[in-house]
Amino acid sequence: MTEPVAIPKFVADHMLGSLARWLRMMGYDTVYDKDLDDGEIAKLARGESRFILTRDKELAKEPGALLLEHEDLDSQLKAVGTKFGLRYNDNQIRCSACNGELQDLPKDQAKESVPEGALNNNDRFWKCSKCGKVYWKGTHWRGIMERFQRLSLV
Ligand SMILES: [Zn+2]
Repeated sequence: MTEPVAIPKFVADHMLGSLARWLRMMGYDTVYDKDLDDGEIAKLARGESRFILTRDKELAKEPGALLLEHEDLDSQLKAVGTKFGLRYNDNQIRCSACNGELQDLPKDQAKESVPEGALNNNDRFWKCSKCGKVYWKGTHWRGIMERFQRLSLV
């Protein structure tokens, strides 16, 4: 038995844009802003209780930071997933573009922003509460889930 712990939140350094997008799709709150410098990342991490994900040995000295030794996305995802015990969470998927929370978008309201094919083939839609981007689990979603499964993150 392990004690329940708070869901980890992250801030990724400027080298880790892809990793940040994938963590958001997994359901984890991940700040990524390539304009943040190391000092700003460290400050944000402390202020918002976020773990730092970094490729930079200096920044990795911050408390709670994880140094990612690998350049490829699979290894990075696996390293973060193993370290923090992450699991894909269908109810917590966040906007891969901006990290905003997704809200259910009724199908009749999705009509305006979704191509007809997607509208016909899907019943559930989501809208980002921050940037307004509309999501559905199209054909590309299978590939996303395959990656999570391959890495034992589901
Ligand atoms: Zn968004």
